[in-house]
Amino acid sequence: MAASSLSNYPPELSPDEEQYLLTNLKDWSIAHGLAVRPPPSFVTATQDPSGVLASTAPVTLFPSPFPRNCFEEGLAIQEAYNELYSAIARDEKWLQGIVEELIDIDDFVSKLWQTHLAVKKEGYVQDLTLGLFRSDYMVHVDQSASNATPGLKQVEFNTIASSFGGLSAQVSALHRYLLSIDAYPASATSVIKAEALRQSKSASSLARGLATAHKAYGQSRTGRPLCVLFVVQDPERNVFDQRHLEYALLEESGVRAFRLPFHRTQADTKLAEDRTLLYSPPNSPATSYEVTTVYFRAGYSPDDYPNEADWTSRLHLERSRAIKCPSILTHLAGCKKVQQVLATPHSPHLKRFLPDEKVASRVLSTFAPIYPLDQSEAGQEAIRLAKNPESAARYVLKPQREGGGNNIYRKAIPPFLQNLPETHWPAYILMEMIEPPALKNAIFRNGELQSGGVICELGVYGVCLWRNGSGDNQGEILENQEAGYLLRTKGDQSEEGGVAAGFGAVDSCCLV
Ligand code: ADP
Ligand code: MG
Ligand code: MG
Repeated sequence: MAASSLSNYPPELSPDEEQYLLTNLKDWSIAHGLAVRPPPSFVTATQDPSGVLASTAPVTLFPSPFPRNCFEEGLAIQEAYNELYSAIARDEKWLQGIVEELIDIDDFVSKLWQTHLAVKKEGYVQDLTLGLFRSDYMVHVDQSASNATPGLKQVEFNTIASSFGGLSAQVSALHRYLLSIDAYPASATSVIKAEALRQSKSASSLARGLATAHKAYGQSRTGRPLCVLFVVQDPERNVFDQRHLEYALLEESGVRAFRLPFHRTQADTKLAEDRTLLYSPPNSPATSYEVTTVYFRAGYSPDDYPNEADWTSRLHLERSRAIKCPSILTHLAGCKKVQQVLATPHSPHLKRFLPDEKVASRVLSTFAPIYPLDQSEAGQEAIRLAKNPESAARYVLKPQREGGGNNIYRKAIPPFLQNLPETHWPAYILMEMIEPPALKNAIFRNGELQSGGVICELGVYGVCLWRNGSGDNQGEILENQEAGYLLRTKGDQSEEGGVAAGFGAVDSCCLV
């Protein structure tokens, strides 16, 4: 990055400049659905009994500078990542090896695996699977190397409910709009130039992925109209992010979609004798639709399964003929343990799934060091590092969970392990902290502006549709595409970065 033009970025705003920028940002956001339902701390149920209010989504005022080569590399290798995770999801035996290490110590993974086994026993009736993936990265600068060039390191790979594709497309358009109306002071325009801003096509690309699956399902077997089901949490504050995909699916592909709160699964859906999935909207139970594709925006967290009935619901959907986005095996492929096993130095695993050596080595170069906490030699070394407060300060400890707020950072690791029975340590992986370059920005969240040091995380979306094999047949990929990007930015004092979890903001890339 050219330090000279960036050292004063973003510029200080005068009160008038700030007001002009915020007024335009607020109005554009609401007018374009760059919005969330307000948190209860902001608007109580008594103040909004009919739930009509929305507020602007947390966004950065300025697009964040992002190294062009890192951005381009992230997008360029997404198809390889899609291929990798599709191959893992098709390799049940290999996944079983991973799951077996977790099954006695992680109830959630164990339940998912049992659900898969139950369907397998009966036989799957759908051999297509859809992945709407997101590979997350940070820019890493090796502080010890002189003249180090920034490189892209993967934080994690998401195989279920990869969110913010809807809002991301809007925030890049917001920043472009703010530039076009001269809301940024002239001093910033040496960095923020129209050709440096990257528009994210994530909403439309992810919707096209759903449409591809919908079409690949084929003709209605029941004569009923076909639809896609978004399986969602209830309540869901990030509903507009999902609505953008739903509306793009209808407007660009003419595909009807419904929102099914996960807990309503048994009430609103049923399986025909041949396990065709039928959906009856509560507002018109006499009409029913045949479901081509089940898109999970819920079901990724144990909190989504408060009752045994919720596991029955997951089983019910998995058994069905609808294409799952994702299937349970694909969901399990996103375990952090999988990421750790792939990152094991000199391991044969990456080659197994990505036979092209050049492709594999590009993917490999994005891995950060990750260790198991088990009986292996690497595991014993990692346990030693994790127990010592000084060395632990360079690491993050992660369980097999999604959705933010689950990790243990740095100095908190040794006391956490002390309180956890040693038999449970292998349920976690230990990952080196990626140390991104220092940047500044201003985040506008819940009507408050916070300026200061920030950390950016790039997410690259991928669409992948594949046919599962059986026996010696490894199946085949039918569709494989990079599907736009997300930039999330958080204050550098916060270890977590989740926007929905309340730590970060949606941002866009200004390439430098
Ligand atoms: P989740 O699946 O819950 O999103 P992540 O692995 O993405 O879990 O971790 C949550 C957040 O923690 C990330 O968004 C990032 O801000 C931070 N984080 C995770 N791993 C690292 C790492 N190796 N280096 C720096 N920050 C990390
Ligand atoms: Mg995740
Ligand atoms: Mg994450």
